[in-house]
Amino acid sequence: MSTPGWYYRLSSFFKEKFGEKVYKIPLDAGLTCPNRDGTISTAGCIYCYNPGFSRSALSREQEKQQIGIRAQILLYQAEAEKRIRKDSANYNKALSDHSNFMPRRKYLAYFQSYSNTYGDISYLQAMYKEALETPGVIGLSIATRPDCLSASVLELLEIYARDYHIWLELGLQSSHDRTLQFINRGHGYNSFAEAVQYGHEKGLNICAHIINGLPGESWEDMLETARRLSSLHIQGIKFHQLQVLRGTHLEKLYLQGELDLLEEKGYIHLLCDQLEVLRHDITVHRFLAEVTSQDFLLAPHWENSRAIFAQQIEVELKRRGSWQGKKCL
Ligand code: SF4
Repeated sequence: MSTPGWYYRLSSFFKEKFGEKVYKIPLDAGLTCPNRDGTISTAGCIYCYNPGFSRSALSREQEKQQIGIRAQILLYQAEAEKRIRKDSANYNKALSDHSNFMPRRKYLAYFQSYSNTYGDISYLQAMYKEALETPGVIGLSIATRPDCLSASVLELLEIYARDYHIWLELGLQSSHDRTLQFINRGHGYNSFAEAVQYGHEKGLNICAHIINGLPGESWEDMLETARRLSSLHIQGIKFHQLQVLRGTHLEKLYLQGELDLLEEKGYIHLLCDQLEVLRHDITVHRFLAEVTSQDFLLAPHWENSRAIFAQQIEVELKRRGSWQGKKCL
């Protein structure tokens, strides 16, 4: 790994590994989640409204029918390359004939909506295979819950990891069991730590998702989550601020005045504190949650985009004379 700078960006990691930028294509495989379908609960996590934070889940809801994985990938690639290269001729061709579109960039197929290892193994295998066989796709990024990793899924991903670049994105949100219970995650911290170990043994890259500002958590609790993650075999992290989406249980708590949300400026300081205790070789995939439509978001309404936010974090780390991992023991 070369010098990561103030913090280790995922884009730097891709540049080092592949020599160029790699784009992630959000996909909807038509799956659900055991915390929604009644296997664990029907209520879901208290903050969850999947179409609110996943464009692919939003498309499923809006279009009421799902298009195939290959078609989702080719359309995304065509749109992305039209934007990058202003290549409208190629784009128009892709719209009329998916099968012949040839991307010029590298892509990861990102199975984003709901729990993407939760389903019949032959169905999952067909979805992953279809993605990997689409031109331009160099690997998979699979978002799921830590308690949805069967031996057969892990074995399948282990085989893919020999030839492709595979990320497993595991939702944790907090390393504190009392918080996980309060937000109705339906699993504990140990389940996450075990899943990381299994994934690591299979040669997968693991990215942990956490949410800052969950009810009842102190600054120190959130720092402790970053410290605990540093002690596990993870290679990536996605930070999110708690957002109140309409129609969720969290909305009720918010309207009853039972929630203290983070403020934008304080969040920058918190992230810098967390980066300082985070291992220097863990890639940062994201600092900020963004909703698919402002209509879904009750609070907080922050001003800055992800890019500006990332700049502010660099400025703050620079001001401190600090960097990712400076206080990691
Ligand atoms: S595990 Fe994910 S999809 Fe399932 S309820 Fe929680 S946030 Fe929603």
